[in-house]
Amino acid sequence: MKNVIHWFRRDLRLTDNTALHAASISAQHVTPVYVLSGWKNFHSWTGPNRQHFLCGCLRSLDGNLRAIGSRLILRQGEALAELERLAVETSAEAIFFNRDPDPFGRAVEEKLKKMGERLGISIRPCKDIAIHERREVLTGAGESFRVFTPYSKAWEKLPKLPLAGSIKSLSSPSGVESLQIPDNSFWSLPPTAEGVSVAGEKAARTRMRAFLDQAITRYGETRDLPAGGGTSRLSQDLRFGLLSIRELHQECLKRAEASDANARGSVMKYVAELIWREFYMQILWNFPEVLSQEFNPKYRGMIWPGAIANLERWRSGETGFPIVDAAMRELRETGFMHNRTRMIAAMFLTKDLHLDWRHGESYFMQTLTDGEIASNNGGWQWSAGTGADAAPYFRIQNPWSQTKRFDPDGAYIKRWIPELRDVESSKFQDPPAPGLRLAKGYPTPIVDHSVARDITLDLFKAMKA
Ligand SMILES: Cc1cc2nc3c(=O)[nH]c(=O)nc-3n(C[C@H](O)[C@H](O)[C@H](O)COP(=O)(O)OP(=O)(O)OC[C@H]3O[C@@H](n4cnc5c(N)ncnc54)[C@H](O)[C@@H]3O)c2cc1C
Repeated sequence: MKNVIHWFRRDLRLTDNTALHAASISAQHVTPVYVLSGWKNFHSWTGPNRQHFLCGCLRSLDGNLRAIGSRLILRQGEALAELERLAVETSAEAIFFNRDPDPFGRAVEEKLKKMGERLGISIRPCKDIAIHERREVLTGAGESFRVFTPYSKAWEKLPKLPLAGSIKSLSSPSGVESLQIPDNSFWSLPPTAEGVSVAGEKAARTRMRAFLDQAITRYGETRDLPAGGGTSRLSQDLRFGLLSIRELHQECLKRAEASDANARGSVMKYVAELIWREFYMQILWNFPEVLSQEFNPKYRGMIWPGAIANLERWRSGETGFPIVDAAMRELRETGFMHNRTRMIAAMFLTKDLHLDWRHGESYFMQTLTDGEIASNNGGWQWSAGTGADAAPYFRIQNPWSQTKRFDPDGAYIKRWIPELRDVESSKFQDPPAPGLRLAKGYPTPIVDHSVARDITLDLFKAMKA
């Protein structure tokens, strides 16, 4: 072919990008485009941290494309209309892109297929953001898995595709109009967090190398300690496709092979987390109703009777439960929250404050830089007891004993709650005596955990009955 389009979406990189690679070997000229959504204000599913990071990724991608003889064409508006316009302008014979697992992205892909038929343009979806996607991992009876462990065993057995490699040069038609890559003033809200990681493929690759060379062989011991920095911090990079999941997986397997049994266990624990990511993607693909309903049919339509006034105290980290408040302040200040404290904070909202998980799901989507529909919904439903969890609703984490196990010296709590810096850390491991405060200016606990726990058990039992 002479001219084709590569539509960048959640794949903002040149290395091992399936659709971009396919486009580059199929045509003389490739027009790489990103279409920014048309909205100027944020809605309940997005927010400034992610947009800020996206802008950085687009700037970096443009620089990387220029270095290989091309440049990023930026358009804004409805993706379908913009792609049609660009296809006509560049006389494109095909549009290449990597498939999205979420229902919104999939709906656009369906319409794009129809547009291709109407215009006589070939539409070329590729597999890229997951190693195994859609309905590739199935039970013996040909059904989608609803539980993680058998899914992961089947996932591991399937053959893996080789890497596509990196694009070294790209010829693109000249004279195609593009918007300026936006700076942060483009959106009406400034970013809320200061700690957003440096954006772009190069920065993501540096993070990946550092983790693979240093922390991965200790991941098994350190991954659950929120103060420890023992996790990879690659979630935003996987979210925006700055890294290839195939490459990361292959690199992990190489490390596992070269390690002793203990270190290999750590590396494979990390691989299991990458499989969780795909598990939730396939749940969203095969059960898209999870976006509005409980995944577990027994708990569909569950009523959460908590006081909505408590939502703001949870969001602002003022519940009087130090581990929960530290987590919520970490999120507010950095756009990130450690996985262990995501579970604690999410269980606290649902099983201590008895508020609907959808409130938390939406707030996380607005604030997390790595906010990703499938993992976020999966994490929230798992924590609420309505999701894909083999040990269901009666898994209720006690925030005080979680603190004792995972933040024993209070380092995480003290980092995020300045009011508590001078408090003896053992005091974070049990509720304070009635009426007593941990420190001046810090609230007393908003609920009694053991009373709240019994209410939760009754709520679920009533649903089951
Ligand atoms: C309530 C809740 C909401 C969550 N929302 C998101 C979200 O919006 N986006 C997101 O990427 N992750 C989400 N997670 C999963 C997990 O918390 C983050 O992926 C992880 O904290 C990111 O940090 P990391 O890259 O250092 O993780 P690491 O421990 O280094 O893990 C490596 C990678 O594996 C994947 N991963 C790890 N744990 C999980 C998991 N439980 N589920 C799915 N994928 C996982 C991520 O891509 C992560 O980058 C959520 C978890 C919970 C409990």
